[in-house]
Amino acid sequence: MRNRKLTWTFLFILLVASTAYVFRAPLSLWAAQRVIVQRMSSHPLKDLPDGLHIAVCGAGSPMPDEQRGGPCTLVIAGQQLFVFDTGNTSARNINKMGFNAGLIDGIFLTHFHSDHIDGLGELLLQRWVSNSNAQPVPVHGPEGVQTVVNGFMQAYSLDRGYRVTHHGDTVLPGSGFGALAKTFALQDDKATLVFQNADTQILAFSVSHAPIHPAVGYKIIYKDRSVVISGDTTPSAHVQREARGADVLVHEAMSMELMKLLQAGAQAAQRHKLAQLMKDITNYHTSPVQAAEIAQQAQVPYLLLHHIAPPLPLPGLVDVFLKGTSDVFKGTLQVAQDGDVLSLPAGQKVILKSHRF
Ligand SMILES: [Zn+2]
Ligand SMILES: [Zn+2]
Repeated sequence: MRNRKLTWTFLFILLVASTAYVFRAPLSLWAAQRVIVQRMSSHPLKDLPDGLHIAVCGAGSPMPDEQRGGPCTLVIAGQQLFVFDTGNTSARNINKMGFNAGLIDGIFLTHFHSDHIDGLGELLLQRWVSNSNAQPVPVHGPEGVQTVVNGFMQAYSLDRGYRVTHHGDTVLPGSGFGALAKTFALQDDKATLVFQNADTQILAFSVSHAPIHPAVGYKIIYKDRSVVISGDTTPSAHVQREARGADVLVHEAMSMELMKLLQAGAQAAQRHKLAQLMKDITNYHTSPVQAAEIAQQAQVPYLLLHHIAPPLPLPGLVDVFLKGTSDVFKGTLQVAQDGDVLSLPAGQKVILKSHRF
């Protein structure tokens, strides 16, 4: 009796599976149609609680990494959308997380190392075409931002022409193409206010990424919540100063131990110049333990390690990366991955963690 029941169950599953296989094309079309409409009519900003949200659109470094794209942090302040650094996966990851690049209100660059700007062209394009924007997006940065913006505007000028000709100025206004560079000056003793409206303040402060000058970090305040983004830096007293009182510190982190492993590998392979390069880059970054010390000193409750270098392709390497951090930092520590989101609702102390891929 039991055997007969099992046989019928098996035959039923087989029938359903083979029918689904035979009709896979129309079924897929039906499913795709539903998802497309749902996706295009969704308004993720309206679904979020009022507050500050930090979404990781790139948690990696210039090194090729399967899990992490180039540095990019999306900060949602109320209904405003700001992007800090535009690494190579920025536009794709923003889209993958369900946010509309066409709604970006401003872009902020920490410095002009290639890994922080190599996704800018694509992000500017997506921002323009996804919402038929008639105004270019402001790109804020220290001295040098104009050069970067001019370069991308020139590189994309032919593409701009193609698209306006193809779609017409009503569908794609030529006036909305690209970016408007907004250069700000820095002060030694305090952060500079670079953006402000009713509930939002964005401040920039210098960090130590010598020989790269200028290099900055940012503090974003929305109502009673705040986040500090370190940018690329060695341990910086300015980051520590600004992080005091903040809810979250997003800090770059490089494992010196793992970098030594790469350096030794390059030496063993007789690639001496590559080995020297691996050695050089350790002198203008911060180790996870140093970032943890800064977070502890600043009494910040949540540390999100970002700009992760080198890549951590094996789970055990995350343990190596974090070695010693729990001895110095008593708050919550997270190693960022693309798609991670931290939500800080206004008027509360809570920090909610989610993942949007
Ligand atoms: Zn850098
Ligand atoms: Zn970098």
